[in-house]
Amino acid sequence: MSVKTKDEPPKIDLSEFRRIRKAGCNFANLDLKPEHVETLKAAFQAPDISSAGIHDWMKDHGYQIGKETIVKHRTGRCACQ
Ligand SMILES: [Zn+2]
Repeated sequence: MSVKTKDEPPKIDLSEFRRIRKAGCNFANLDLKPEHVETLKAAFQAPDISSAGIHDWMKDHGYQIGKETIVKHRTGRCACQ
């Protein structure tokens, strides 16, 4: 009868997975203009600003993004959280 020793946690490099997960969020992949980063960050955090409003603003500023992508990113249901 053999006594199974506790296995060491395998040291596996998971960075590939993390990179792929990050690549799955269209918002994270957007090439945001530097002057828009702070504005968007503030808008995302403002409870009185709707995701539809952010979507309209982004469209007006030349970004190609789906509303659902914004909602997911804003609520932490996207791949980059
Ligand atoms: Zn995201």
